[in-house]
Amino acid sequence: MLFSELGLAPELLRALEDEGYVTPTPIQQQAIPLVLAGRDLLAAAQTGTGKTAAFTLPILQRLLGAPALSPRPRVLVLVPTRELAAQVAESVRTYGRHLRVRSAVIFGGVGLGPQVEQLRRGADIVVATPGRLLDHMQRRSVDLSGIETLVLDEADRMLDMGFIRDIRRVLAALPKRRQNLLFSATFSDAIRALVAGLLNDPARVEVAPRNTAAELVEQRAHPVDKARKAALLAHLVSSGDWRQVLVFTRTKHGANRLADQLERAGLVSMAIHGNKSQNARTKALADFKAGRVRVLVATDIAARGLDIDQLPHVINHELPNVPEDYVHRIGRTGRAGSAGEAISLVSGDERGLLRDIEKLLKRALPSSVVPGFEPGTASAQERAEVAAPRHAKPRSRGPQKTSADAPRRGAATSGGDARAAQHHSRRPRSQSSNRNGRVPGPR
Ligand code: AMP
Repeated sequence: MLFSELGLAPELLRALEDEGYVTPTPIQQQAIPLVLAGRDLLAAAQTGTGKTAAFTLPILQRLLGAPALSPRPRVLVLVPTRELAAQVAESVRTYGRHLRVRSAVIFGGVGLGPQVEQLRRGADIVVATPGRLLDHMQRRSVDLSGIETLVLDEADRMLDMGFIRDIRRVLAALPKRRQNLLFSATFSDAIRALVAGLLNDPARVEVAPRNTAAELVEQRAHPVDKARKAALLAHLVSSGDWRQVLVFTRTKHGANRLADQLERAGLVSMAIHGNKSQNARTKALADFKAGRVRVLVATDIAARGLDIDQLPHVINHELPNVPEDYVHRIGRTGRAGSAGEAISLVSGDERGLLRDIEKLLKRALPSSVVPGFEPGTASAQERAEVAAPRHAKPRSRGPQKTSADAPRRGAATSGGDARAAQHHSRRPRSQSSNRNGRVPGPR
């Protein structure tokens, strides 16, 4: 099938041609006609499937078909993270290149002023993260009474991040009659509850059955002392000559510390997390994609929504508290038939987490000890280096500061980055409650 067979306007076909896209992806083939017909949509699709174009193209076409009656926004796209907001807004610009469609992108961690100005000038499409959109609603810098189409992108992640109350407050401000499109990689009870009150006789579209990523990826676990994980990781990267490695840690400080340790082992590494400014994150991602950074160390939240997948190596330096996050993480590798492996470094205290993951996967992960890294062999010095509490603030640790994490750690949280951190820190996220779809209390 070709894009030209989907009934899209010539301006959109031209933009697709500019991009070199000829064949719609499966989600695009299924979703575009349904959205054009005005249906509500419930779509199971992950990043990398072409889902953004699957809603952006038909939405642009519908705007084209019915000219604006007022300067108010007509389409609202809610997304969980700044990165995803920026990427979706970029897609709107790309596909809308030959149309006169105005868009605004709204997310936290940057000044309100330019966003207020964007909204004041008028935007047909607003792409926003829920918290910052609420700020604008409270300031009356955005009027959502003209919204015709609502998109919830990566809805599961928005719920995981504790956005449900914000989402409900946004929904309450929208006109009752509208088109609703919901995209989610997974379908928890919480998502189903949201869907039930939101979607009107939705068409269902599914491109990858639930949790299939887990079956396509070669997975293994290496038991290792917590104190030797960084050394083992450096060993695996060097001895395997891995060139592009995405590593997950549980905490921002853990990400900084690990990136430093890897740097000292001679591996060009960067950490990416919620305390980093937007610019720092964008640059790290660009350097990683271009091969200038060999190891990208990320927290789950920071990695979500990044346009990176089909990576050859994904490493769980620490196992996630939520088994579903494991599936999200390893979904970054081995897509579309390309070979990929996901390796988990498992310390003694993480065995319970591993069991939870295996229960979700309904199979055991092959586990092997790497020679030279047998559990129980960490030296006293190595143990001392990880003894520091994981959540300690870099500057508050005073004389206990160890050589392992002394350099550079403070840099990531200084200056303008503190403001960027507010966006995440303001909203409590209770990892352990995610699985059941319960969300943290009010802000
Ligand atoms: P998404 O799943 O929306 O994050 O898209 C994943 C990537 O696929 C993006 O880099 C898109 O630009 C690209 N893409 C989307 N649609 C197509 C298509 N029909 N053909 C080739 N690439 C596409």
